[in-house]
Amino acid sequence: MSYNIDTKCVQSGWNPKNTDPRVLPIIQSTTFKFDSSEDMAKCFDLEESNYFYTRLQNPTNDAVANKIAALEGGVAAMLTSSGQAATFYSIVNICNAGDHVVSSSAVYGGSYNLLAHTMKDLGIEVTFVEPDCSEAELKAAFTPKTKCVFGETLANPALKVLDIEMFAKAAHQHRVPLIVDNTFPTPINCRPIEWGADIVIHSTTKYMDGHATSVGGAVVDSGNFDWQANTDKFPELTTPNTTYHGTIFTETYGKAAYIGKMVTTLMRDLGSIPSPHNSFLLNIGLETLHLRMERHCTNARKVADHLKNNPKVTWIKYPDLTDDDDHQLAKKYLPNGSSGVIIFGVQGGRTGATKFMDSLKLAAVVTHVADCRTCVLHPASTTHRQMNDAELEAAGVKPDLIRFSVGIENVDDIIADIDQALAQV
Ligand SMILES: *Cc1c(COP(=O)(O)O)cnc(C)c1O
Repeated sequence: MSYNIDTKCVQSGWNPKNTDPRVLPIIQSTTFKFDSSEDMAKCFDLEESNYFYTRLQNPTNDAVANKIAALEGGVAAMLTSSGQAATFYSIVNICNAGDHVVSSSAVYGGSYNLLAHTMKDLGIEVTFVEPDCSEAELKAAFTPKTKCVFGETLANPALKVLDIEMFAKAAHQHRVPLIVDNTFPTPINCRPIEWGADIVIHSTTKYMDGHATSVGGAVVDSGNFDWQANTDKFPELTTPNTTYHGTIFTETYGKAAYIGKMVTTLMRDLGSIPSPHNSFLLNIGLETLHLRMERHCTNARKVADHLKNNPKVTWIKYPDLTDDDDHQLAKKYLPNGSSGVIIFGVQGGRTGATKFMDSLKLAAVVTHVADCRTCVLHPASTTHRQMNDAELEAAGVKPDLIRFSVGIENVDDIIADIDQALAQV
């Protein structure tokens, strides 16, 4: 039976059998017992897919990965210990030294550093394009070595909306997949696979967990990209892998070849698995994701409308506002609301921003974002401080930008807190 997304949040992933625990159990065990060495050997040959070591697979982690795959409409998913690990894995699963990535410039600061610096050091080159570039500019960024296109549905913190269809079209014309970081909208507000994305990644640390308890990430495979038709570009998926006696991932895993390869090679060699206990907490968060996102969005809309009318607010960006630069894209890709995050500037620039933030009482100054509790951050002096002014500009981060993450408290209390803090500016 196919359920609506709200039902999937509550029920997908864990399907208890007769007398099984009703709630997803925490299988806090690194290892699994076999009756014979031969039984275990079959797992190492990928002949059988039993559990044997938690770095590769664990029942608690898998149940939560399956829920996220169901929410995004993918065929398979893998959890990672952080969103950063998810981003890294999603790219190196199909890119080697000498390869090239086309990326939107409006991405999370950590993703920018990873792409512009760490990947470069590994020999993977990146060309950044503006998220609102023309189709011609986008096409001009590709090289014969391009292996994927990367972007964020709703950029953190720039709140630029990615034209997923346009980016997917360009990627597919160049016979490569589109990877989309869907952390901010979550599958409740946007499912990039429905617009042509091939791989979707998440920092589950944010709204998915929602309670700021567990750092985590996820990679979801749509199963739609035809690796076999592009075997010249992706031989690692379509030709024999020597570390598994010549397994061909597209044959062994079919539509889930990309995730199959990621689990059996990257997770085996690099680690970064979440602890089953963290996945258990993530699952509890996911059970209310649909309720929380709705409240985050209605609260944020009211806060944005209120901020717009305060003369101390010099500018504001929230894609749901009708005069926002990204409103048309938001209407198309995020019709139920973008997220709970708003960015704005206040009088006095950097100093004004600090004064405002230090005067807040309900909203806490934290690095985190997309929490059920209202929180606030000044990216230029914290998360993005490694970037120079030009890089900040390209990522859409103004020096006076305040990132305000509206929680699910009573919105009147949030607005009263903002008002008293603005009065101090
Ligand atoms: C936070 C974040 C990440 C990184 O995730 P971590 O869980 O902090 O490693 C990646 N992408 C986006 C959009 C984020 O907000």
